[in-house]
Amino acid sequence: MGKKQVFLYTGTEIDVEWDERLCIHIGECGNSKGELFIAGRDPWCQPDLSPLSEVKDIVERCPSRLLIFTRRQPSNSFGGVITAQSSD
Ligand code: SF4
Repeated sequence: MGKKQVFLYTGTEIDVEWDERLCIHIGECGNSKGELFIAGRDPWCQPDLSPLSEVKDIVERCPSRLLIFTRRQPSNSFGGVITAQSSD
């Protein structure tokens, strides 16, 4: 079994996925303001520490387009969480 290369960072309202294989480590995400990505922290990405608009903005600035955000919808009547990927 290979090394894990796609990482999912879950938040209350939004999740962020990072594909390490495509990352050029130019640091656009880590250099952004706010607390979403902090180098050296574990986990380095914490979606609950930034407003949704900031998470979306930072994810969309990734030059390799390898960061993906997924908005979480309120729980359904069965107690599950519905996720929907946004293209906006
Ligand atoms: S902005 Fe994208 S390519 Fe650059 S370091 Fe972050 S995840 Fe990697």
